[in-house]
Amino acid sequence: MSLIVTGSIGIDTIHAPTGRADAVLGGSAIYFAAAASFWSPVRLVAAVGEDFPAELEAPFHAFDIDLAGLEKREGSQTFRWTGKYLEDMNDRETLSVELNVLAEELPPVPEAYRDSRFVFLANTHPGGQLELRSQFGRAELVVADTMDLWIENERALLEDLLRQVDGLVLNDSEALLLTGERNPVIAGRKILEMGPGFVVVKKGEHGALLVHRDGAAALPAFPAADVVDPTGAGDTFGGGMMGHVAKHGDTSMAGLVKAMAAGTVVASFNIEKFSLDRLLDLDRATIDQRLKQYAAMLNVA
Ligand code: AMP
Repeated sequence: MSLIVTGSIGIDTIHAPTGRADAVLGGSAIYFAAAASFWSPVRLVAAVGEDFPAELEAPFHAFDIDLAGLEKREGSQTFRWTGKYLEDMNDRETLSVELNVLAEELPPVPEAYRDSRFVFLANTHPGGQLELRSQFGRAELVVADTMDLWIENERALLEDLLRQVDGLVLNDSEALLLTGERNPVIAGRKILEMGPGFVVVKKGEHGALLVHRDGAAALPAFPAADVVDPTGAGDTFGGGMMGHVAKHGDTSMAGLVKAMAAGTVVASFNIEKFSLDRLLDLDRATIDQRLKQYAAMLNVA
């Protein structure tokens, strides 16, 4: 069952209490696609600039990602982001962001992608998200992610997008920014009034909350002591969740909760190393082992 994603592909520089990584591969779409590919093949629609270095290309070929929709655009520059984690690694500051090709049009969607049934609009300019959305009017499930930059600077486009998606994934501070509501359950309910049928509020090391038209559910994070770089945790969570949904085809609330468990566990691996290094060194059997541990941990009845 076919899964398609658009979002950012970027060159990241990361400062963390655990070290520093300069000009490494990042971006919401590549983290998402790599994580989702452990469950389902993924089709990618995204652009990088002519400056994109060949040595960052290897991860694109290491996962089950269809690259027909990836464009290296002459005359454009790649998206760049520099972030800094504070002592409490739940806190992150953006030191610099250069949108570059993210502010331009999306590449054309390859003909072979037209039958995609599951669509993920990973964090990127809401203009690009709307562009992809408009091309998949009859998809089974369309889910978007977003962040503070767009909530603050592209509010109207984002509200337009929210009217057209089935689900939204965002973190707790973004839910507060979007709704003015600190309680994530109430914030989630306010977002449901804006259009989506469900909202996942990610709370970093405190897990994730699902607010759904049919009720609400909370999942803890997998207890992790080995946190090196939280970058991409949200995107790999989304990837695991949507990869699981695309594989099993269950879009009910119960299906989404199981899919969130998959997202939680794959995200817990991603944060063990910088950039995509841990995902590159991961296989499905290792993920399933941790998923089993996680399920056993939750067996509270
Ligand atoms: P996460 O840690 O899940 O929020 O995702 C971090 C990734 O998002 C990094 O690899 C960045 O390149 C990317 N990113 C940061 N800011 C933006 C933005 N405004 N739009 C799209 N992607 C972004």
